[in-house]
Amino acid sequence: MKVQQGGTQKWCPNCKETQVVSAVNASRLGAPSGQRWYKVDHEDIQYFRRGQICQECGHEWLSAEVPEAFLDELVELRVALRDIKLHAETYSRQSTLASQSLEKLSTSLSVLRALDVYKAES
Ligand SMILES: [Zn+2]
Repeated sequence: MKVQQGGTQKWCPNCKETQVVSAVNASRLGAPSGQRWYKVDHEDIQYFRRGQICQECGHEWLSAEVPEAFLDELVELRVALRDIKLHAETYSRQSTLASQSLEKLSTSLSVLRALDVYKAES
């Protein structure tokens, strides 16, 4: 087991485990300076930006502190999007099959029309 020596412990996306992390000014990571931000067109999404550096691997990233309700919303949106994608693929396959069936029906009608016994209704 690794010995942790003080400092804030956070999930490092590079190490994929919890590590000691230092907070730095976001501008050091190339982001505009300033810590309080919001998304244009989504002014309810207000967040606090920080630069993070993993003391284990040196990976640097930006983090955003948001109200937890946004994380719940993110999970809901991911699930909804997954369902939409799944259904869209099913509908796409089914519409291809339906299109092929209609084409066969059209061919069959052409054959019927060529026969004298078939009279198209007008
Ligand atoms: Zn790391």
